[in-house]
Amino acid sequence: MLEVERRVVERSFIDQKHQRREVINHPLLKELNRSYTRYAYEQMLFQYRESHKLLIKYLPKTGAKPEKMVMLKLDDLEGDTALFHIKDLETRERHQVIISMNDEGDVTCNCEFFRGINLYCEHIFAVFNRLQVKTHRKFKKLNRWTK
Ligand SMILES: [Zn+2]
Repeated sequence: MLEVERRVVERSFIDQKHQRREVINHPLLKELNRSYTRYAYEQMLFQYRESHKLLIKYLPKTGAKPEKMVMLKLDDLEGDTALFHIKDLETRERHQVIISMNDEGDVTCNCEFFRGINLYCEHIFAVFNRLQVKTHRKFKKLNRWTK
């Protein structure tokens, strides 16, 4: 094997190990694994991994300061619903995620994956990552997929 190839293989092995550790230690993913069927969890795990390449824009109703938006957390959101615009830098696709802060705790995305299967999609995970969401208890259950 060429030196370059060997390094590429090593690199991807390290990335995989790192990713696996990241997933195992991620409180939200742990919960999803416990709450939902294996199939549903694996679907969401894939979506979670895809979520890191997405660009997010939060559209506050009142003018929020840019500094604050960098450290935005779920509790910082204002109003009953929060709207996010998500852009995929590779495909240039744009989607919208809406989080309701009422008792229902509805989370929706207008992408095909979410509307079809009703599991958290990469766009929703992108928003969760940004808001540092560590539990899904505040949100509506994905009833079709509970264990
Ligand atoms: Zn989506």
